[in-house]
Amino acid sequence: MTDSRKITLHENEMPTHWYNIIHDMPNKPLPPLNPATREPIGPEALAPLFPMELIKQEVSQEQFIEIPEEVRDIYAMWRPTPLFRARNLEKMLDTSAKIYYKYEGVSPSGSHKPNTAVPQAYYNMKEGVKRITTETGAGQWGSALSFACKAFDIECDVYMVRISFDQKPYRKMMMQTWGANVFPSPSDRTQAGQKILADDPNTPGSLGIAISEAVEMAATREDTKYSLGSVLNHVLMHQTIIGQEAIKQLEKAGADLPDYVFAPFGGGSNFAGIAFPFLHLNLTEGKTIQCIASEPTSAPKLTRGVFRYDFGDTVGMTPLLPMYTLGHTFVPAKIHAGGLRYHGAGAIISQLLADGFIGAEAIDQLESFEAGVQFAQAEGIIPAPEANHAVASVFRAVEKAKEEGTSPTLLLNLCGHGNFDMLAYQDYFAGKLEPHELSQNEVEEALGKIDTPTIKSVVDKLG
Ligand SMILES: *Cc1c(COP(=O)(O)O)cnc(C)c1O
Repeated sequence: MTDSRKITLHENEMPTHWYNIIHDMPNKPLPPLNPATREPIGPEALAPLFPMELIKQEVSQEQFIEIPEEVRDIYAMWRPTPLFRARNLEKMLDTSAKIYYKYEGVSPSGSHKPNTAVPQAYYNMKEGVKRITTETGAGQWGSALSFACKAFDIECDVYMVRISFDQKPYRKMMMQTWGANVFPSPSDRTQAGQKILADDPNTPGSLGIAISEAVEMAATREDTKYSLGSVLNHVLMHQTIIGQEAIKQLEKAGADLPDYVFAPFGGGSNFAGIAFPFLHLNLTEGKTIQCIASEPTSAPKLTRGVFRYDFGDTVGMTPLLPMYTLGHTFVPAKIHAGGLRYHGAGAIISQLLADGFIGAEAIDQLESFEAGVQFAQAEGIIPAPEANHAVASVFRAVEKAKEEGTSPTLLLNLCGHGNFDMLAYQDYFAGKLEPHELSQNEVEEALGKIDTPTIKSVVDKLG
């Protein structure tokens, strides 16, 4: 037993492998479909967009994959990240629950995203790629990739969702500091962007639109590949270093395994990062740790969407993936948690949710900021607006424990700080944040537009 507030690991205790949950899933994720023919596609179809090594990881069934030494060397600039016991918060909430949080905001760009940006840039460099294109919503992913590309001397083109481009100039400058080229999306550099601008010149943009642009640029240029900051299997796997470290740290602190693990949910990467190593214990050792994804009420794909094949982007260029989705044409409201404004969820996460291995809840942005501000006042760190959603889930769990007279152990993934998101906090303090929940009609309208194959139709075809 120890009273440590901050539980650290030495650099040489950093995990040496990523954990691939597909190995332990009873139902493996279904294959992607070709966007045109809607037939199942193999990994080779992804070759124009990604380097071979990442494609191999995307379809790998190996349980653990070694982290290259060069990647671990860059990780060591900020990893292992600290795990904190939130004693002040426990006191403030007057709870007997134990609250821990894993803090990923210590990375150079301030979130968990470099955990995958670095290996992605590394494998591209190894295969001779000269330029990587990508999209960014809140700017977190773009800055992580800009940092990672600079580390391996690759050019980086970032398509940044327009509302964030306008609202978050500092994120843009961060990317430029690391040498990236940043374009507001939709842009007139791509056919996808031109088409959307013609329909609605004032569109705030969305992650889906920006993905279309970045994919188009990579697909049409020989020396250029594309990189995605969430959703895909290999991206989720790279994040599993978070949960593996957390397990070691809880052990070091003499703490119990958590009863609940909470993380905010955009496309699933930081949730996967903290949750999968704990799900590994559920799947292989019979533990019953509950992993809960916190999504915004304005983009509630896990709690109100359907499990169906859908495009990753808005225009319909990407392969169709089996996912919980609100439909690829759904444009979420302009909430401040830009990283959560996405219509779908990764294939692994979706299969796990369909099979009942994980849970999800939707949090309104007002509730999320109320919780985030209290967290900051207790623990000092100002959470990213995305992370506030999971902080609010912790607050709900604390309330529930009080009602039930229990003292659970709660683990939160504090996946990023909010130091570049002060405009969002300003709007919150000015009373400008409205509760925002989709009406049943809005959900039905969004789902009604989906015309992509159902899961069942593909399962039947595969036999
Ligand atoms: C990108 C981002 C998210 C959402 O993406 P996931 O892939 O779901 O993790 C959440 N929080 C922060 C801080 C982010 O940068």
